[in-house]
Amino acid sequence: MMVHLFGGDATTAERSKELLGGKGSNLAEMASIGLPVPPGFTITTDVCTAYYANGEQFPAGLVEQVTAGIAHIEGITGKIFGDAADPLLVSVRSGARVSMPGMMDTVLNLGLNDRTVVGLAEASGDARFAWDSYRRFVQMYADVVMGLDHAEFEEALEIAKEDRGFYLDTDMSAEDWQALVAEYQAIVERETGAPFPQEPKDQLWGAVGAVFASWESDRAKVYRRLNSIPAEWGTAVNVQAMVFGNMGDTSATGVAFTRDPATGERAWYGEWLINAQGEDVVAGIRTPQYLTKAARERAGAKPLSMEEAMPETFVELGQVFDRLEGHYRDMQDIEFTVERGKLWMLQTRSGKRTAKAALKIAVDMAAEKLITEEEAVGRVDPGALDQLLHPTLDPKAPRDVLTKGLPASPGAASGKIMFDADSAEKAAAMGEAVILVRVETSPEDIHGMHAAKGILTARGGMTSHAAVVARGMGRPCVSGAGGLSIDGNARVLRVAGRELREGDILTLDGSTGEVMAGEVPTLLPELVGDFGTLMVWADKVRRMKVRANAETPADAQVARDFGAEGIGLCRTEHMFFDAARITAVREMILAENEDGRRVALAKLLPEQRGDFAGIFRVMAGLPVTIRLLDPPLHEFLPTREEDFAVVAEAAGVGIEALKARANELHEFNPMLGHRGCRLGVTYPEIYEMQARAIFEAACDVAAETGAAPIPEVMIPLVATRREFDLMKAVVDAQAKAVFAEKGREIAYLVGTMIELPRAALMAGEIAETAEFFSFGTNDLTQTTIGISRDDAGRFLTQYVDKGIFLTDPFVSLDVEGVGQLIEIAADRGRKTRPDVKLGICGEHGGDAPSIHFCEKTGLDYVSASPYRVPIARLAAAQAAL
Ligand code: ADP
Ligand code: MG
Ligand code: MG
Repeated sequence: MMVHLFGGDATTAERSKELLGGKGSNLAEMASIGLPVPPGFTITTDVCTAYYANGEQFPAGLVEQVTAGIAHIEGITGKIFGDAADPLLVSVRSGARVSMPGMMDTVLNLGLNDRTVVGLAEASGDARFAWDSYRRFVQMYADVVMGLDHAEFEEALEIAKEDRGFYLDTDMSAEDWQALVAEYQAIVERETGAPFPQEPKDQLWGAVGAVFASWESDRAKVYRRLNSIPAEWGTAVNVQAMVFGNMGDTSATGVAFTRDPATGERAWYGEWLINAQGEDVVAGIRTPQYLTKAARERAGAKPLSMEEAMPETFVELGQVFDRLEGHYRDMQDIEFTVERGKLWMLQTRSGKRTAKAALKIAVDMAAEKLITEEEAVGRVDPGALDQLLHPTLDPKAPRDVLTKGLPASPGAASGKIMFDADSAEKAAAMGEAVILVRVETSPEDIHGMHAAKGILTARGGMTSHAAVVARGMGRPCVSGAGGLSIDGNARVLRVAGRELREGDILTLDGSTGEVMAGEVPTLLPELVGDFGTLMVWADKVRRMKVRANAETPADAQVARDFGAEGIGLCRTEHMFFDAARITAVREMILAENEDGRRVALAKLLPEQRGDFAGIFRVMAGLPVTIRLLDPPLHEFLPTREEDFAVVAEAAGVGIEALKARANELHEFNPMLGHRGCRLGVTYPEIYEMQARAIFEAACDVAAETGAAPIPEVMIPLVATRREFDLMKAVVDAQAKAVFAEKGREIAYLVGTMIELPRAALMAGEIAETAEFFSFGTNDLTQTTIGISRDDAGRFLTQYVDKGIFLTDPFVSLDVEGVGQLIEIAADRGRKTRPDVKLGICGEHGGDAPSIHFCEKTGLDYVSASPYRVPIARLAAAQAAL
C-alpha cells in the first residue's frame, strides 16, 4: 500500500514512523483515538524511495491510490476537490521520520483557483476569507513548489498595505486581497512564462513532487550528513483537508506544549492568534497572544488569552491535552486550529525541552504514575545534563561582551587575567580567582590551567590541548577566540579596540564562547530536587560502578559530591608541575645517574605522600587507581633560561652541562618514546618512590581515619607481561617494606592500563599477574588508528564531514574498531583470571554511547571527569535498562 488513510473508520492501523513519517503516524494515531483531526492520507516514505530508484518517476498505481485518498476526504467532508460551488481544499505537508529542517514547507489552501475561490466565498458567506486564503495559496505555491523568491510577494503585499494606509493584514478587505491575487499571478507569469496553474489535480501533483524533490535539496542533504540520517529513509507526504483559522473572530490557530518546555512546570504553555492561519503564529507578522489567563497576567499583556476569549473551546483543548499526555505518556508539542468555534488537531509530537524541564517532567510524570521510575530514567538525555553541571552565568546580570570564541568546555568563570601558568598558579595560591589567557596551551601550562578558574586561548579548536584538558578538569574554556591579540611580554590583551592588562577581571562563558569584561555573577550547580531524585532512581538500575578521574583533593571532593564511587584515574604527573616541585622534578630528570636521581626523588617523596594522603582522606574506604608516571620526560624540561639557572643551582651543576643533558633527552616521537612503564624499566627508582608514597599515605590515612582506601596501582603503557612483572615486583617490594615499617597492612591491587594494541591481544598472558585492567582509550584510540590526538584537529573535522568517521573517535569510542580490541582484551583477561577487574578511564568514560558499549562488554566500572560523573551515572543506568 502506497497510501494510508486517516480520519473516520477508514483510519489505517499502520503506525510505523519509518513508513508514515512522524507527522503521518501521529495524525493516524490521534484520529484513531477519536480526536478531531481533519481527514486525509499519507503517501509512504517507500514511495519517495521508489521515486528516486525509478529515475524520479511516480510508481505505477500511485495516481489511483491518491485519487482514492481524495475520495476518502471528499466522503467525510462532503466537499469535492475542484468543485466550483463548495470546493474541498487541502494542505500538502512533508513529514520525514524525524523532523528535518531543509524539507519542503507546507502548502495550505491547495485546490483554489479563479473559479473555486468564488465558490468558497459563497459557501462560507465570507468573501474576505476566501480571497485571503487564495492570496496565501498563490504565494506559498509560488515560493515552495515553483521556487520563486518570496521577497517579491512580500513586497507587493507591503506596497498594497502602504497604499491603503494599513498596518495589519487583517485590515485588508476582500477586494484588497482580490487585487493582490491578480498582482501575484502576474508575478508568477512574468517569472515562469506560464500562468499560475488552475487545475487542482496539477497543483496537487506539483506539490507532491516538490516534497519529494526537497528530500534531495542541498539543505536537506547537509542536514542529513550532519545528523547521520541515511538518504534511503525518504520522506512521506501528508494530504489533509483544510480547516480554517482565518474565518473571522470565532476562528483561530495556535501552538502549545502540554507542559512548560523551559521549566517543565505542569502548565499549558502556548500561543495563539484569532483570525489567522498556519504559520502566522510563528511568522512574527502579528504578536501572538497568550493561551492562559495566568500567563497573560504574568506578562502584563492586554490582548485576551484563549482562556478568556474562547472559554468553551479552551476547556475542550485542555481535555485534548490531557488525553494526549495520557495516551503518549510524554509532554506533547501540539498544533491546533479553531474554525468557527470548532476545535481541530493538526499535529502532535514529543516536545523538545531543556535539560531542566526534561528532569522535572520525568520526575513529575513518575509521581503522577504516568510512567515508571525506570522509564523516567530513560527519558532524560545524559549529554544534555552537561548544561546543569557547571556554574552558569546569572541570566539576569548585564554582560559586556568583548568577543566570541569556541565553546570549548562548558561552565562560566570570572577572574583576574594572567598570561602564564606560573603567574596563574601564584595568584591562585594567594586566593585569587584567575583566568589563564594564552595564545594556545601546551602540557607545560597544566599547573596553571589547574590553578585557573577558566582558560581563554586565541588559537586552537574544540580538540586543541586547551579544550581537551579543560574539559577533563571541568574548567570552563573558550578557545580559538580569533578577535584577541595577546602580547604576553607586555602583559596586555587587545580586543575590540580595548586593552586589558594582567589583573583586570574577565568573565568567560564556556557554554557559548562569550568573553566578557568585568565580573558577571555565577550560579553553582547542585544535585538537588528533581536532579537528585532522578539520580537515586538511576542508581537503582545501574550495574556498572562510576568513578572519577581526579588528581587533587578538591576534584576528588567534587567527584564524591556528584556520586563517584572511587577514583578510576589519578594521573601522578599533574602533581609534578606544581611550582614548588618542578625544580626537584627537573633535577631528577636531568641527573646523570641513579644517585643523582635518588637525591631529587627523596625531595619529592614527602610531597607525593601528601598528595595521596589528601585524596585518600576524601576517598577513604573506596578504590583509588593511581597511575605511575607516564608522560615523556621532556614535558617537564625547562625551556626558559632562568629555569635552567634555578635547576642548575639546586642540583649543583653547570648550566651548560644541564642544557647538553636536555638535548640528549630530545625525542622525535615522544608519544611513542621513552614514556609509561619504559621510564619505570629504565629508572625503577621513580616508581619505587611513587609506590612508597602511595603505601605510606594509605597507612597514615588508615591510622588517622580508621578507613583505609584501596589503592590500585596502575602501570601505564605496558605491551608485554615481562614489563608488567618487573614493575609489579618494584611495587610489591615497597608495599612489603612500608607495611613492615608501619606495622599495618593495607589491601591493594597492581594492574595495568590497556592502551596498546599488543597489550589487548596479549591480555590473557598479562592477566596471569595483572589484577586489573583499565582501558586507556585515549591512547588506545591513538595507537590503534594511528592518529595523533594532538595533531588530529587539522583534519578530523573533515573526516567527520566526509563521513569517514561518524563522530570524532576521541570523543565517542570507535566501537567497531577500537571496541574489538577492548572485547578481545576483556575476554582473554577473564579467561585467565575470572575476577579481573575491568574499567575504562579515557575521555570516553563520560560519553553516553561509549558507556553503552562498556555495559555490553561487561566492564565493572567507567571513570569520568568529576563534572561528568552524574552524566555517567545516568548513561550507565540507561545502558542497563
Ligand atoms: P511544519 O512541519 O513546518 O510545522 P506543518 O505541515 O505542520 O509544517 O504545517 C505548517 C502550518 O500549517 C502549521 O501551523 C499547521 O498547523 C498548518 N496546517 C497544516 N495543515 C493544515 C490544515 N489541513 N488545515 C489548517 N492548517 C494546517
Ligand atoms: Mg507543524
Ligand atoms: Mg595513556
